[in-house]
Amino acid sequence: MQSANQQTAAFDVVVVGAGMVGTSLSALLGNAGMRVGLIETRPAPLMPSERGADTPPTPRVSALTPVSQRLLTHLQAWPGMQADRVTPYSFMHVWDGEGSGDIHFSADEAGVAVLGHIVENDVTLAALNQQLVNHPKVTRFNGVTVEALQTGARQRYLALNDGRQLQAPLVVAADGARSLLREMAEIEVREEDMGHTSVVTTVRCEKPHGNTARQVFVDGQPLAFLPLTVKGDDHYCSIVWSVEPSRAEQLCGLSRDALGKALAAALEHRLGQVEVCDQAHGFPLIQRHARHYVLANFALVGDAAHSIHPLAGQGVNLGLMDAAVLAEEVINAWQRGAAWGDERILSRYERRRRADNTAMLALMKGFKTLFGSRHPALMLARNMGMSGVNRLAPLKRAVMHQATGERGRLPASCR
Ligand SMILES: Cc1cc2nc3c(=O)[nH]c(=O)nc-3n(C[C@H](O)[C@H](O)[C@H](O)COP(=O)(O)OP(=O)(O)OC[C@H]3O[C@@H](n4cnc5c(N)ncnc54)[C@H](O)[C@@H]3O)c2cc1C
Repeated sequence: MQSANQQTAAFDVVVVGAGMVGTSLSALLGNAGMRVGLIETRPAPLMPSERGADTPPTPRVSALTPVSQRLLTHLQAWPGMQADRVTPYSFMHVWDGEGSGDIHFSADEAGVAVLGHIVENDVTLAALNQQLVNHPKVTRFNGVTVEALQTGARQRYLALNDGRQLQAPLVVAADGARSLLREMAEIEVREEDMGHTSVVTTVRCEKPHGNTARQVFVDGQPLAFLPLTVKGDDHYCSIVWSVEPSRAEQLCGLSRDALGKALAAALEHRLGQVEVCDQAHGFPLIQRHARHYVLANFALVGDAAHSIHPLAGQGVNLGLMDAAVLAEEVINAWQRGAAWGDERILSRYERRRRADNTAMLALMKGFKTLFGSRHPALMLARNMGMSGVNRLAPLKRAVMHQATGERGRLPASCR
């Protein structure tokens, strides 16, 4: 990365937020030859191997689809992630703790090598950042934030809190669900409190995880045990338990011993006893969807555009597709000498991404309603639905195809 100590700087694109989505977008644009400024408040994370030999897993993980894996491979981040710590899962088991509904998925049935990988967010971020070190086209501005966003003729201007000014024909907000840039651009957002807080921590179970991602609905509330293999030890799992906020507060306040017992009981002891290895953290869940993804010389990607219930583990996968599609449209325009910040060019990105994101947000809301309901007809429907899908091979294959990210026209970087 170049050092960025000049007072004002002009770029082709400025990306605000170096999360997984903003960093991927910056790498795609920079690798094509565009000059990118990347602004981030936090320091870049280190790989587990750089943090020390026996570093425990960090609590925030994501289930990455094979399509996201292809994008990360295209960006040359995947080999470093794989060498450090990723856990493939070849099986998924979802069941209803209150009924007989039960569904099993396997990579074999889907005709794919794996259904996905569970990866600590910091591992993905660290590997992406390694690709940007000494990158001739990407300049990272660390430890700063944006104080003002202004509009000029075919340009956006950003004032940073350390006094520096940046300008570019395109500014992209990749600054997460509570995006400051989205607010500065006055883009409205539809918000829906999901009435859930996700309790997240790392556990070690008595039995090995068997490369299976498990999710049980306990009183209609999803509890996921996501497999993690740490230095060959396949007894670790990352847990995400999405419950009512008062219950989440109670769970986070339990001793590790008591939380382990509660988790083991909720999982019906299928992995034996559960030892909690880390503090439990709570993340309130609010689904958000921006009314527009683009304005002239401005675009939203990832959680800044949409944030979604984690029950099907799709959030960052959707965001990575946003980054890949936006990069494809912008690079195409730049290569043919068109104005890449033009709203008509940017609208192509919105058209290609909005339907997929909207469908996934609606599906998560539907799942939450279906599984959260105590209505006998809905309880019967979900049990029959799950068992029915489990018996119908073509329908099951279609569900798996969707879940692995193979939806619609994929950008070239993900094929
Ligand atoms: C409990 C939980 C479990 C989840 N599990 C999964 C899963 O299994 N699979 C999946 O696909 N998704 C999952 N998600 C969703 C996933 O974590 C998000 O979709 C993803 O992190 C969004 O990435 P992003 O880069 O868009 O935003 P973020 O990860 O929020 O990154 C935004 C970045 O912008 C920076 N920033 C913010 N404001 C500013 C500013 N003003 N100036 C400069 N920088 C700024 C932040 O420091 C941060 O680095 C889960 C979410 C939760 C809460």
